[in-house]
Amino acid sequence: MRHISASVLAVFIISLPAAAQTGELSKNVKQFVRVDAAKVVLAHVRVIDGTGAAAVEDRNVLIEDGKISAIENGTDVTASKGATILDLRGYTVMPGIVGMHNHLFYIARPNLNSEWKSDPPVLVPQMTFSAPRLYLAGGVTTMRTTGSVETYADLNLKREIDAGKLPGPHMDVTGPYLEGAESYFIQMPHLTSAEDARQLVEYWADRGVTSFKAYMNITRAELKAAIEAAHKRGIKVTGHLCSVTYKEAAELGIDDLEHGFFVNTQLDPGKKPDMCSDSQGNYTLEHMEADSVEARELIETLVKHHVAITSTLPVFEGSAAEFRDGGPTQINQKALDAMSPEAKEAFLLLRHRPGTVPRPKTDPKLLWKRDLALERAFAAAGGLLIAGPDPTGTGDVVPGFGDQREIELLVEAGFSPVEAIRIATLNGAIYLGRDKQIGSIAAGKNADIVVIKGDPTKQISDIEKVEIVFKDGIGYDSQKLLDSVKGRYGEY
Ligand SMILES: [Zn+2]
Repeated sequence: MRHISASVLAVFIISLPAAAQTGELSKNVKQFVRVDAAKVVLAHVRVIDGTGAAAVEDRNVLIEDGKISAIENGTDVTASKGATILDLRGYTVMPGIVGMHNHLFYIARPNLNSEWKSDPPVLVPQMTFSAPRLYLAGGVTTMRTTGSVETYADLNLKREIDAGKLPGPHMDVTGPYLEGAESYFIQMPHLTSAEDARQLVEYWADRGVTSFKAYMNITRAELKAAIEAAHKRGIKVTGHLCSVTYKEAAELGIDDLEHGFFVNTQLDPGKKPDMCSDSQGNYTLEHMEADSVEARELIETLVKHHVAITSTLPVFEGSAAEFRDGGPTQINQKALDAMSPEAKEAFLLLRHRPGTVPRPKTDPKLLWKRDLALERAFAAAGGLLIAGPDPTGTGDVVPGFGDQREIELLVEAGFSPVEAIRIATLNGAIYLGRDKQIGSIAAGKNADIVVIKGDPTKQISDIEKVEIVFKDGIGYDSQKLLDSVKGRYGEY
């Protein structure tokens, strides 16, 4: 494991940290705090502000009382009482990532073997310990849980994090999945009617849930009832759909659709209303070139109805990479180090397709190409593209690392590095209606800032070299957070 230690960072802490804010943090959280002062100056740093604007060299970013108070020309600052000055020559800052498809669970496949066989039921154990630390370590300062299985645990986790008792990002807690009657996920609610959907939304909204997610087998009537109940309370609904097509969902008023254009079923052969198709969207994607009439009409509908699209490229990368020239992509050693022995074993098993498992019907490389083109076309047409990795234990999609990988893959899709960073930061904040407070580096905004060694505008993989993550002006040590969960992801 490549260790980024404190000594690598040319940081000069000139005065003792002020006690003001640390006083409110528990010991549990304080152990990860590297910078905590009433005033912090990030001196001589390159700024990627999150708006998509070009990076600006040699700036001083001032943080006071948890907020960004000013951004000025780079100057040498003399130490004063209660101030911490970091000399960040050679470093870049960008806004904290606003992760929009960031789960707090792992998908376990009991008794998975090298033939890719496992015993039912598929289970999703909670990662309430490891995931929040991994997210924060990776630069995620705000996240949507995008479907909960232990909703009370997620709601309580959010409260504990906000109270300074546990480390982790700010959270938009999504309610239990709005799944239809048929489902292979035994931990999801299986809705029986539109009335059932309405009741579920109201019950969980009353208990603090701030978003909902519809799932693959929901009916149009159930989705409509859920959207109406959520919107009455100013709460948004997203969906990983199959039984309902993208166009139908847009017309029902959904706010966001997950997984780029991978799970739209509108052209799937034999698609019956309210039923998931066998192809689960593969056929549609295969047959929907970005400049086709169908694609243009779909994108127009999505933009007209203000439906966001969440790009979740890392979770699809594995299958595309399997058939890529030159074989699968490189293993991220740090992500591997975060995994439990069982998770690592599952990852290695799923990485090698056994001879007994047939190749997918549709070429994953082609689907990958189609989706990237559609995501670009959607953004070019004025659609709000947001991002998240969907870390579920398939492949090496691990919280935090996956968020960084998503940005790298957006660059592979053809976005410039600063555009990709905007998709993963400011666009998410806009979706959440929080862009006045978070999502970009600007005076007056919360000091949610990622400190990176190197220059992601020149080499996007530098985005993995996160050293300090500021959340509300407190600087967390990325490596310490990672060390605390080494070998735990997949376990708890
Ligand atoms: Zn997901």
